[in-house]
Order: sequence, then structure tokens, then C-alpha cells
Amino acid sequence: MTTPEIELSLVIPVYNEEENLTELIARTTAACDKLDCTTEIILVDDGSADRSMEMIIEASQKDPRIVGVILTSNFGQHAAVTAGFQTSRGKYVVTLDADLQNPPEEIHKLLEKLREGYDVVGSIRENRQDTFFRKFGSKMVNLMVRKLCNGKTMTDYGCMLRGYSRNVVNAVLLCQENGKFIPMLAMTYARKSVEVHVKHAERAAGESKYSVMKLIALQYDLLTGTSTFPLRLLTFFGFGIGGFGVLFGLYVFIRSQLDKDWGFGGTFALFAVVFVLMGMQFASMGLLGEYIGKIHLNSRSRPQFFIESIHRKDNNTQPQEQE
Ligand code: UDP
Ligand code: MG
Repeated sequence: MTTPEIELSLVIPVYNEEENLTELIARTTAACDKLDCTTEIILVDDGSADRSMEMIIEASQKDPRIVGVILTSNFGQHAAVTAGFQTSRGKYVVTLDADLQNPPEEIHKLLEKLREGYDVVGSIRENRQDTFFRKFGSKMVNLMVRKLCNGKTMTDYGCMLRGYSRNVVNAVLLCQENGKFIPMLAMTYARKSVEVHVKHAERAAGESKYSVMKLIALQYDLLTGTSTFPLRLLTFFGFGIGGFGVLFGLYVFIRSQLDKDWGFGGTFALFAVVFVLMGMQFASMGLLGEYIGKIHLNSRSRPQFFIESIHRKDNNTQPQEQE
């Protein structure tokens, strides 16, 4: 691999953002002018139905730093970012949203950290400008994520103003699965990560592209993409109910031995049997789940490891060669 000439690639997914594009491009290019590095601005049109595509193509014809990537239809934000990653040539990649919620003027903070050698730079939104519902939802999701990936985690996964090293970008590109949640996936392959505080603005124009249903789908992607633990919950639940059934059965047996009139003609005993059977059912579903989990893990065929560099005495550091 030759040393990339471009130091920083910006990747911006765009879906029906015609009202924001002019300001976005103006502010992003101005912010890039202030950075002391070579940049490219990759605008990925995610199948917009408005004039976004034409505007992107036009901008790419005017400014050599702007690269337009046009997708055939709407594949979703993270697929669009992946397409941007694939096109990017920079040593570092920074992603941001097209609606100007992430001010381009904050990019320098991320670049600084990337230059210091961090593989993933996350960001914490200061004074977040979103609805209460979105903020509360985000809190819950961040909490869940923190529990799921014990240790290696960040405060805020929702902010898309994030920086990645070339190694991490390459690793993410090797993950072929559908429904990727890039900020989390990137953490799997990061050696050093850090978070910086960034400003957050209200959406400049237009509506959020995420409906409640789309948000729920994204959370499911996040959960199932991170962990097979929910499947194991079935087993725990099954053993819980089954165990309760056994104890209840014992209690019913002892109680009815002591007092022959007690037990409502065997109704309680029947309850105990039902609990045990239900428990067995859940536990077997959990067992099936374990196998399905294995199939899931194998079928998404994520690389099991990612070599950063290889060291030999006579040829000190070899950049790794990916397929
Ligand atoms: N986006 C996209 N494809 C989609 C939905 C969204 O490329 O299917 C882009 C959108 O243009 C924006 C970013 O992803 O640049 C974040 O979307 P949005 O601002 O609607 O999300 P929110 O800020 O409400 O989470
Ligand atoms: Mg937004």
C-alpha cells in the first residue's frame, strides 16, 4: 500500500437534503480550508428523491476536493457511510451528518486526536438539540450498549461526527453483513479510542429521516449485531420458571400431606406441572437460540481478527496486506 496523499476524507451521507446542501458544502469547504491538511469531501447520495443528487454532481464538478458517490436507491445511512468509506482515500476518515446538526467547524478537534494516534474518535454532544423523546431513547440505548460491550465503550454512540483511522475503516469494510451500526462495529477493531466534546445544532432544514419505526429497526440492528445475549435470556427465563415450578410443586406436595383438605383438588399441583413444562419449553427455545446464534455469528462472517502490522527483524514494519 502506498502512502495515501490525502490526509483526511470526510464522509457525509445525504438523503433528501437539498435545503441543506448549499450551506453544508460552503461551511465544510471553509472548515477544510482552515485545516492544515489535504482533504476530500465525499458526499454520498442515498437515493434521494429531491435535487440532492444533481447538486452533489454539480458541486463535484466545481471543486476537485468534492467527490460525489451516487447510490441507486435508498439503502440507509450506515450503508451510505460504508459506500463513502469504500471510496475514501484519506489516512483518516471523519463522518458527519448532512443536516448541519454536526457543525463542520468542529472537525479539527477530531483530526487532532486522530493525529495523536487514536483509532476511533467519538464525540459527546454538548447541549444536544433534539426532542425529549430522542434524548431519552438515546440514553437508554447508550446504557444498553455499555452493558453489552463490557469495558470497551463510549458515552455517546448517537452522534455521527466521528473519526476513524484507515485501519479501522479497512476493518469495517471487511465486514460484509447487512444492518451494520458503524460506530459500534468500529469499536470492535479499535486499539485506542477517545471522545471529544462537540457542539450540536438543531437540524438546519427539513425533517429527521428517522421515523419511530426506523429508529426501532436501527436499535434492533444494534442489539442483534452486537450480541447474541438476548437468545440466552430465553434459557435463563426457562430455568427460572421451571425452577419455580419445581419448588412450587414441592410446597404443594408438603402442604397437602399436612392438610389433606388443602390443594383445591389438585389445581395447585397442576399449576406446578404447567410451570415446569413452560420452563422446559423456554429452556429448549433458548437452546435452539444458541444454535441460531452460532449460525448468525458464522453467516455474517466478520473477520475474526485484523492485523495492523507485521514486524520482522530485517524488514521492520510491514503495512498489512488485505485481500
Ligand atoms: N440519511 C441517509 N439515508 C437514510 C436516512 C438518513 O443517508 O436513509 C442521512 C441524512 O441525510 C443525514 C444523516 O443520514 O445526513 C442523519 O439523518 P437524520 O438527520 O435524519 O437523523 P437524526 O439526526 O434525526 O438522527
Ligand atoms: Mg439529524
